[in-house]
Amino acid sequence: MHIIVCVKQVPDWDIPPSSFKVDEAAKRVTPPAGVAAVPSQFDTIGVEAAMRLKDKTPDAKITIMSMGPEAARDVIKHSLAMGADEGLLLTDPLFEDLDWYQVALVLSTAVKKLEDVDLVICGRQAVDWDMGVSGSGIAELLDWPALTIGKDVQVNDGTLSVERVLMDGFETVEAPLPAVATVSNELGEPRYPKLQQIMQAAKKQVTIWSAADLGLNEAQLGPDGRKLTLERLYVPQSDAQCEMMEGDTPEEMAQNLAKKLAEAKLI
Ligand SMILES: Cc1cc2nc3c(=O)[nH]c(=O)nc-3n(C[C@H](O)[C@H](O)[C@H](O)COP(=O)(O)OP(=O)(O)OC[C@H]3O[C@@H](n4cnc5c(N)ncnc54)[C@H](O)[C@@H]3O)c2cc1C
Repeated sequence: MHIIVCVKQVPDWDIPPSSFKVDEAAKRVTPPAGVAAVPSQFDTIGVEAAMRLKDKTPDAKITIMSMGPEAARDVIKHSLAMGADEGLLLTDPLFEDLDWYQVALVLSTAVKKLEDVDLVICGRQAVDWDMGVSGSGIAELLDWPALTIGKDVQVNDGTLSVERVLMDGFETVEAPLPAVATVSNELGEPRYPKLQQIMQAAKKQVTIWSAADLGLNEAQLGPDGRKLTLERLYVPQSDAQCEMMEGDTPEEMAQNLAKKLAEAKLI
């Protein structure tokens, strides 16, 4: 079984959103200087899901695929240290500034080129743009089933089984392989690489493919190939005001709060 895990490199998500600069004219977001690039949170959970499958089926092969700049090699290395077998870095100036369709096009074309893939695992959403569309987009372009937002991913006799997280519970769904699964934080903590694994990861192979290697061109990856138009990018103004409740005890503060809410006809 060959499993691909899609891992996106994102700015460290611990940085407060207010420290990012939004250039409304250029419609761009710039992270503060010196912010570390890290694997997207849900994507290391994707690696964990793949590793749990490999724990049961040791001859399964896990390839980590990341599209991004050369520096995205670091998130591949982290995933390799978690136990994955190989890395695939998709890097090319044409891969910058893509919309959701073009991202799915690049990732799905790489999966097609690999030819022997049984399962693609993505995070439920990337923690920078939070679009949550790439997994389903890859499945659509490959014409494979997509089982999304999983807390448990199993493969038995060529069937993918995913326990999905719903608003008010869980459901288990199945589909034949090849298929795409996306995973959520309910799956559990990703394993932490040990020092020896980090050293071993340095020796693991990372293949690099460009747009030309994938047979993709500027017409597909440039502005004419976009399916989404960014109309406006801005920080919404908030005029929320905060009033601290007076009172000597928590009970008194609660009574004052209740009074205020009643005066405002909110209760
Ligand atoms: C209006 C608008 C303008 C944008 N402009 C820009 C821009 O100028 N520059 C720019 O860089 N982005 C831009 N983006 C973001 C870009 O369109 C998104 O990256 C794309 O739509 C995919 O969404 P996402 O990154 O939120 O990934 P999601 O769809 O949330 O990702 C889900 C999963 O797919 C996989 N995945 C996604 N991306 C990658 C990747 N690169 N490598 C490996 N796996 C991946 C991961 O497993 C991830 O967890 C813009 C987005 C919008 C909405």
